[in-house]
Amino acid sequence: MYAERVLSGMRPTGALHLGHYHGVLKNWVELQQEYPCLFFVADWHALTTQYDNPQNIEKATWDMVIDWLAAGVDPNQATLFIQSRVPEHAELHLLLSMMTPLGWLERVPTYKDQQEKLSNKDLSTYGFLGYPLLQAADILIYRADKVPVGEDQVPHIEFSREIARRFNHLYGREPGFEDKAREAVKKLGSKRARLYEELRTRYQQEGQREALEQAHAVLDEIQHLSVADRERLFGYLEGTGKMILAEPGALLTEASRMPGLDGQKMSKSYANTITMRESEDSVAKKVKSMPTDTNRVRRTDPGDPARCPVWQLHQVYTDEATRATLEQGCRTAGIGCIDCKQPVIEGILKEQAPMRERAQLYLDDPVLVKNIIADGCEKARELARETMRDVRESMGLEYH
Ligand code: SF4
Repeated sequence: MYAERVLSGMRPTGALHLGHYHGVLKNWVELQQEYPCLFFVADWHALTTQYDNPQNIEKATWDMVIDWLAAGVDPNQATLFIQSRVPEHAELHLLLSMMTPLGWLERVPTYKDQQEKLSNKDLSTYGFLGYPLLQAADILIYRADKVPVGEDQVPHIEFSREIARRFNHLYGREPGFEDKAREAVKKLGSKRARLYEELRTRYQQEGQREALEQAHAVLDEIQHLSVADRERLFGYLEGTGKMILAEPGALLTEASRMPGLDGQKMSKSYANTITMRESEDSVAKKVKSMPTDTNRVRRTDPGDPARCPVWQLHQVYTDEATRATLEQGCRTAGIGCIDCKQPVIEGILKEQAPMRERAQLYLDDPVLVKNIIADGCEKARELARETMRDVRESMGLEYH
């Protein structure tokens, strides 16, 4: 089995907003403390829909990386890189494309959805059709077993799993696999080898799952095996051959409920955002001009918080006791809407303060950001190269 690893990417779409912070980045900051994490800028994915207008991608990339760092993503804990700087992604994408049935791509739910949603663009392109496969290559190249996604993205992970399975089925049977696996068993030492064989028989002949789990535990304990032998032994155990690409798992994340300035979900396409590093004046101005309960026309009219978009932001930024006082004030017309908006403004500014401070360091010295990315690209490339060596070898492309 391969090491636990989290992979997540984001398209460079310009300055990130508080919806990104609450929906994705806060989660990344937590994940980086628990697992080895790889976070990448999906600039090739941006090209699948912006192929006719790529000029902004570079600036959007650097702005976005600064936003990640501002949110607390820590380059000492996680690896940050740019997809196109690790060209092995493209190689794996190409090789996988040889064995991917066209129907699998056409069936991906977002393919038709996105085409309809972005009907102003011609998306009948090879790149757009292949984007789930590029996404699968992004994941499989790092043998990432944990991919944080929302419910709607689960089919993409399932697609990546199917691709991995198909690949392993087609190319996992290296020549002389059985002999090499038997040789690897001997390397376990006689006592462990006997136990391994016994557990393997119990699993393969009697289907005992506990035997399989026990055998995994035995292999996990052993330090001296090479990666190739380890994979052979896992494959031999299950009768599947060598596992070259690991099947990824979805790490389900709760959908962000971060409301925008109009009460809909915060999104650039609704023009209802506050960016993570929006200036203090602009935050105050935007919140002050937010619509409120439409029945509250005059200051003396009582209101209903349930009908007010500002109230949704209070759920994020205000404590329960303050909310109780404000609700009472709204319902009795004891407070005006400007008074009610003030704690939201303060809450946002408080949240943004450490982000602004962290970002300033990188804005003052952009070389720092470039170095973080150069370093991350190199680390990511090392992992990608390792997988590609196995992939090429299994497909007969190593040319010794
Ligand atoms: S008092 Fe607050 S909750 Fe009530 S309508 Fe005004 S902004 Fe909305």
